[in-house]
Amino acid sequence: MTIGWHFDNTYSKLSNTFKENIKPTPVHDPELIILNEELASTLNLDFSKTDKKKLAEIFSGNSIPEETNTIAQAYAGHQFGHFTMLGDGRAVLLGEHLVNNDNRFDIQFKGSGRTSFSRGGDGRAALGPMLREYIISEAIHSLNIPTTRSLAVVKTGEKIVRENLLQGAILTRVASSHIRVGTFQYIAATQNIENLNTLVDYTINRHYPEIKTSNSKALDLLNLVMEKQCQLVINWMRVGFIHGVMNTDNMAISGETIDYGPCAFMDHYDPKTVFSSIDKFGRYAFSNQPPITKWNLARFAECLIPLIDKNEDTAIKLATDLIDNFQNIYEDKWLNMMRDKLGLFGEDKDDKKLINDLFNWMEKNKADYTNTFCNLMDINSNELYKNNEFIDWKNKWKKRSEFNNSTKEKQSKLMKSNNPIVIPRNHKVEEALAQADEGSLDKMKKLLDILKNPYANQNNIKEYQLPASLNNEKYQTFCGT
Ligand code: AMP
Ligand code: MG
Repeated sequence: MTIGWHFDNTYSKLSNTFKENIKPTPVHDPELIILNEELASTLNLDFSKTDKKKLAEIFSGNSIPEETNTIAQAYAGHQFGHFTMLGDGRAVLLGEHLVNNDNRFDIQFKGSGRTSFSRGGDGRAALGPMLREYIISEAIHSLNIPTTRSLAVVKTGEKIVRENLLQGAILTRVASSHIRVGTFQYIAATQNIENLNTLVDYTINRHYPEIKTSNSKALDLLNLVMEKQCQLVINWMRVGFIHGVMNTDNMAISGETIDYGPCAFMDHYDPKTVFSSIDKFGRYAFSNQPPITKWNLARFAECLIPLIDKNEDTAIKLATDLIDNFQNIYEDKWLNMMRDKLGLFGEDKDDKKLINDLFNWMEKNKADYTNTFCNLMDINSNELYKNNEFIDWKNKWKKRSEFNNSTKEKQSKLMKSNNPIVIPRNHKVEEALAQADEGSLDKMKKLLDILKNPYANQNNIKEYQLPASLNNEKYQTFCGT
């Protein structure tokens, strides 16, 4: 019975400042709920000869694979603007699994028990939020957006105490790494330059080897992370995704979407949309995601100052100039992303106005974000789109569409690869989770199946395309810790 694990645990070899050596706390009566066989196979893992009981033992952390060196990672973070020393308070990194000897993936258990970073928490996670992370992270992956992924969820057989008693669960998360902006903040806060250099070198080796021999490594790293994060937030804006808790501890240096808490997809277009119950002031609202990305990058830059230049003033100037450019880079990328969504080739001086006119119309008419672009692809129509103002706009768009030797086919191809036809609708996700809590995974599996091909016009998915009715719209998400 070989599963095919190939662990090599470089992070665990860093000094104890970076982590705590700790094992997952065994659980009472684990039961496998879901295993992502497709992901397993891309990781060269084969669980087909392992029985369900053994799988439950493995994914609960009751039976730990050989060659692992389990740790909880130290990190800090600005949570809603306030700096705190954090760390994996309910997660354990099993190790790094190598695929074909060079592709490195963190395998992490989330909900695996207390660590020295747990503060007041119980180290555990509930079934609903772990399945929610599974659904949304896999959906984000299928939307071609960089993300951590979900390999398995087990129930622990133990109850956890929240507002109610909930079923405990553990998610196995796969990530290109769990190094966060907050990891740099933690090390920077200890004011140990040697450790800071170690972290920079480690990160570059692992994620950005192209700058290994640069003589301005820290500045180059900042630049590359900025580029990755800018692209990530552009992708979120493209599909209407609201992360919900963009604290610096939830921003991965790799540029992957990480830490799915109160995230959700926007239905009708409103830039101020917030779903999270804890985001009282809309800090992480849809349209705030780009400026918050910049704010987080500025926190990252602050950590790197001592390594950017020996002269602090010079270092600050270099970092500030770089970060100040975020806005320009973002706006260029955003405009091009929107041109792709609208199937427009080349550039025209009136593009920005054309796009903003559409957004204004959508906001005023509470038009569904996803379905409006579907309507432009002739996929979805309803009364709303017979509105004169919209038809006028559409005529202008059609004229613009003819520029640069575009054809209907070329336009349609571009739009189809940028506009999802189906997204995880909040009420569909909730329905699936409610059923899973009662012991059936039918709805969740159907939803996962449909979300695997978000850009394809699948048969019989109408009910998955419709937003919840506007009267029923006060959807709220909870952190679910
Ligand atoms: P999160 O909201 O999941 O991004 O977590 C923020 C911080 O709180 C991280 O340091 C977590 O490890 C910690 N945390 C969240 N929930 C728990 C819990 N139930 N027990 C211990 N620590 C937790
Ligand atoms: Mg987090």
